[in-house]
Amino acid sequence: MANSALRSPLPQLIVAIACFGIPSTTVPSDQLAAPAGRVTLTRAQYLMGTIADITAVAPTEVIAQDAITAGFHEIRRLEQLLSTWIKTSELSRVNAAAGRHPVAVSPETFALLARAVEIGDLTGGAFDITVGPAVRLWKVTEAARVPTRIELAIAAQNVDYRLLRLDTTQQTAFLEKPGMQIDIGGIGKGYAAEHAAAVMREAGASGGLIGIAGDFRIFGRRADGSAWPVGIQHPRHPNEVLATLESVDEAISTSGDYERFFFKDGIRYHHILDPRTLRPARLCQSVTIVASDATTADGLATGVFVMGPQRGLALVERLGIAAVIVDATGRVTISSRLRNRVRLAPAPPTKPPRK
Ligand code: ADP
Ligand code: MG
Repeated sequence: MANSALRSPLPQLIVAIACFGIPSTTVPSDQLAAPAGRVTLTRAQYLMGTIADITAVAPTEVIAQDAITAGFHEIRRLEQLLSTWIKTSELSRVNAAAGRHPVAVSPETFALLARAVEIGDLTGGAFDITVGPAVRLWKVTEAARVPTRIELAIAAQNVDYRLLRLDTTQQTAFLEKPGMQIDIGGIGKGYAAEHAAAVMREAGASGGLIGIAGDFRIFGRRADGSAWPVGIQHPRHPNEVLATLESVDEAISTSGDYERFFFKDGIRYHHILDPRTLRPARLCQSVTIVASDATTADGLATGVFVMGPQRGLALVERLGIAAVIVDATGRVTISSRLRNRVRLAPAPPTKPPRK
């Protein structure tokens, strides 16, 4: 198995508190420096199959700790509802009832599925929440094996988000065909980050940052009143920053072909699949979306990655959101809303990477 890459411990987006050298644990110096008497604390936990980092800015250390605890608690609560790795989760029950009967779900699960369907429509099906059968077939982190045409053709019969029936009155979800499977990998972490930000605010944090792998939700400001500096990882140079920007009250998500992949016969096979072919999408190396909420940012990062730079950029501009798109050749496109905000880092002087 050549180059089978497991999940990188580095987040796709390196938030500057990490990459600009400020320690990612308790920051007492910040506490002293903060003019308004605000405290900044950061903690990390393993959740949703990855490392989740939460930073809180609050008037006291107790409030900051409570806000972080509330944020992690919320992510874990949603994981129990949404993870298809947990057999008892609501989405596992929807998957188990595929082709048989609708399943009543909580308002949180219903809202996520409804948003996933909307993003499916917005992206012309490039984002497809029912891509589960194909994701299982590829298992890119476990096996460096390319599925056969026949296997892909069979899976294709069971991938179509338009056959996910959501009944608003009954609050039920129903997959019409027996072999269908929901996979929330492309949107669930953003959704969880969005909810975590809300509970942290309720717990008294004036500012904060929730990072779950490549999905970030930022709210409020840092303790000294400044914006949060954010770095976007270079898709072909793992420890390099491609670009930086400053952010207040936004969500920033990156989808890349470098997070989970394997190489076979010199070809990179990664985890973002084009629903039309059920093969890895080939038009981008990475897509970063900046939006007002993290569910949209996460879903669209995946969808725009599949759509590619041209159609993807047109969608982003039409929706009035923002993106940094690295196409398959490494060319960087910055959408109009970000042009004055993003600073591109100088190209790394290392040897040419593999394709
Ligand atoms: P990551 O999970 O690495 O943060 P993404 O948000 O782009 O990155 O999600 C990728 C995951 O989404 C895949 O691992 C898979 O579970 C799922 N997925 C793959 N292709 C699609 C697609 N076209 N539409 C929706 N979800 C997808
Ligand atoms: Mg995504």
